[in-house]
Amino acid sequence: MNVLILGSGGREHAFAQSIIKSSLLNKLYVAPGNAGTHEIATNVDLGITDFPAIKKFVLDNDVTMIIVGPEAPLVEGVYDYFQTEELKHVNVIGPSKQGAVLEGSKEFAKEFMERNNVPTAAYKSFTKDNLKEGMSFIDSLKPPYVLKADGLAGGKGVLIIEHADEAKESLEEMLVGGKFGEASNKVVIEEFLDGIEMSVFVMTDGTSYKVMPTAKDYKRIGEGDTGLNTGGMGAVSPVPFADDVLMQKIEERVIKPTINGFVKENIVYKGFVFIGLMIVDGEPEVIEYNVRMGDPETEVVLPRISSDLLAHLHAFAKAELHKENLILDSRSATTVMCVAGGYPEAYEKGMVISGLENVEDSIVFHAGTALKDGKIVTNGGRVMAVTSFGPDFKQALKKSYQNLDKLSFDKMYYRTDIGFDL
Ligand code: ATP
Repeated sequence: MNVLILGSGGREHAFAQSIIKSSLLNKLYVAPGNAGTHEIATNVDLGITDFPAIKKFVLDNDVTMIIVGPEAPLVEGVYDYFQTEELKHVNVIGPSKQGAVLEGSKEFAKEFMERNNVPTAAYKSFTKDNLKEGMSFIDSLKPPYVLKADGLAGGKGVLIIEHADEAKESLEEMLVGGKFGEASNKVVIEEFLDGIEMSVFVMTDGTSYKVMPTAKDYKRIGEGDTGLNTGGMGAVSPVPFADDVLMQKIEERVIKPTINGFVKENIVYKGFVFIGLMIVDGEPEVIEYNVRMGDPETEVVLPRISSDLLAHLHAFAKAELHKENLILDSRSATTVMCVAGGYPEAYEKGMVISGLENVEDSIVFHAGTALKDGKIVTNGGRVMAVTSFGPDFKQALKKSYQNLDKLSFDKMYYRTDIGFDL
């Protein structure tokens, strides 16, 4: 079959690497892709939310599966767009627009969790019409206070604030001052959960599901998880503290009620569910749902799937995922992201990357890279993720760091402490 992947990051390069191993694959396209996907697939210059252009490409090139990397096309309804008579032979891997609201609206996600008995922090949501009630709600909570813009805010819409006065000020800025634009027309205020974070990934054809490897990512730019938030600076899989007892709790209390919730509420969902968890005294609480894989978690999760990923995804169309046998590599995988100096604030692009040919025993997933005059250059803030395997995450990390030493571009930066808290 011919497959199109939408996106241009390390996540999409990792999808491409897994998909090309399948004997079911004929041609692989990535739109728009990067210098890494260019080496193993055909990059296509298409806008990821330009559905008419995607439709034309898919029909002209006999594509029968679209794997959606980032959330934007899902939230804008790419799944639904392909449900017409003319297009429904195309298997879109992702939820319907209704399912994507689980990521697009934090209030919707919290209501869904409440309805389906999925454990999550107590909350209330507010608009500018009940700002005063919002302030009183802050007074009723213990610090720190968690304020979340309801809509998509590029991973920046969550504020954790120590003092009640400051929290009230921020609430007003969000609701009245338009701090996060339309995304903060509504704000969810929730109880602070004191625990350790991890993520679990599930693939579902809408009725049955498979639990994929767990992962823990490192979001901040600085060592010790300090400084500004980024798209993600590294990840480890599996999460060492996620033992069988915890995984069973997660499956029974979180995964099953979530998938059953899709069925009960007629939410069409044939894709990946990324569940962000806080483990509080050994008990899982859901912080958020994302309706796609994470980046850089994908760069450690997919390499640990040794069965045929494309076959598993192909089974979604007929809701036959339950017949598939998902096989996981028992080794640990780690990834370390190298970024352009200055990121996540202003940074330069176009720096020549050298040393790629010297990398041994690690996989380099390209993120912000491009080809220019035959050379691979930087083309974004997050540039490459170096993934390695080992009997435990420490040995895997050692390899990632050894190979990062061989790579260079002007003002290259990476964290040297991924996994420091494990
Ligand atoms: P992402 O960038 O991962 O998509 P997001 O902007 O969608 O994030 P959340 O994941 O809901 O927002 O929250 C961001 C971070 O804030 C979480 O990773 C977690 O560290 C922290 N956080 C969120 N909710 C809580 C909570 N109730 N208690 C403690 N920390 C929280």
